[in-house]
Amino acid sequence: MNFLYTKTKIFHFADKLNSLAKKNKKILPPIHIRVKPTNVCNHSCSYCSYRKDNLQLGKDMISRDFIPKDKMLEILEDLNTIGVKAITFSGGGEPFCYPYLEDAVKFLINTNIKFAAITNGSKLEGNLAKLFSRYASWIRISIDGWDDESYSFYRKVKKGEFSRILQNIENFKRLKGSCYLGMSIIVDRYNAAHIYQMIKKFKELCVDSVKVSPCIVSDSGRRNNEYHKPIFNLVKKQIKKAFRDFVDKNFEIFDAYHELDEKFYKTYSWCPYLQILCVIGADCNVYSCQDKAYNLKEGLLGSIKNRRFKDFWFSGKAKFFKINPSIHCNHHCVANLKNILILEYLGVKEKHLYFV
Ligand code: SF4
Repeated sequence: MNFLYTKTKIFHFADKLNSLAKKNKKILPPIHIRVKPTNVCNHSCSYCSYRKDNLQLGKDMISRDFIPKDKMLEILEDLNTIGVKAITFSGGGEPFCYPYLEDAVKFLINTNIKFAAITNGSKLEGNLAKLFSRYASWIRISIDGWDDESYSFYRKVKKGEFSRILQNIENFKRLKGSCYLGMSIIVDRYNAAHIYQMIKKFKELCVDSVKVSPCIVSDSGRRNNEYHKPIFNLVKKQIKKAFRDFVDKNFEIFDAYHELDEKFYKTYSWCPYLQILCVIGADCNVYSCQDKAYNLKEGLLGSIKNRRFKDFWFSGKAKFFKINPSIHCNHHCVANLKNILILEYLGVKEKHLYFV
């Protein structure tokens, strides 16, 4: 078994797990950081969670923000020095629109940090594509439309952009690097009848995997479920058929299109995961996670504009405990089930530990 997506990866990092609680004074570096190099984007997706007015995610985002080149190199130097294991470049904006992405990648390939990117694929070409193909661990391309017309409708881009991105994917696979290439289909009511067709197309392009996820339309779990209810069975049926027809040793499907309840409702009062996987935004702020990025009131851990990340991170534990998920996180949270597992692990009654 080789699980790409599993909630238990963190249990391979016992020292980190045991350092998380408030009572333990020792702070260890995060294991993985999402870096949002720029908020500038060349697409304008109708469902983009960062740009929707009714979602807390991205509510304080400034679209023109980007991390200055020197600051980016300083951050990467710190992450390397303190022993961060992995970085994912993601949005805010489109990371491949960041003018210094090549400088960042060239720095990273001389470190032990693994790196990856979530992208729309429109600029996955030229030297950057070669560098990612050879050195990155993975790339995930988000997609919604199933042909040129629908793709342009979703993203307000010129006709032909969809075909161009498919060509980029084909060219990227031809480079034959070790980088794992996945697609991420975001399901809404408009594309719900086309999921099988999309998976088929990506299989034909020889990508390594397709993940199917619901679009998030609200901070409320109930409203998201209401939105997806009329299309739920239709989508599930297609995923099931695609599993049967396409999955083999070279092609995986990840079905993340499920009931959303477990990602919204929280009963615990501190979040372990924000010490494991935090976000550095294009505004040079550090946020708790990708579900609270650019929320200055509830998601901000602190600013690194005028200080180094390593000084900020190790400057006391209080900042890791100011978010109370049962109060502040009643919205989509990708780490919820992982948090529950970790809190159960940390909360074990020591006197009874040996009675496994
Ligand atoms: S509980 Fe979830 S949403 Fe809240 S800070 Fe932690 S990871 Fe983010």
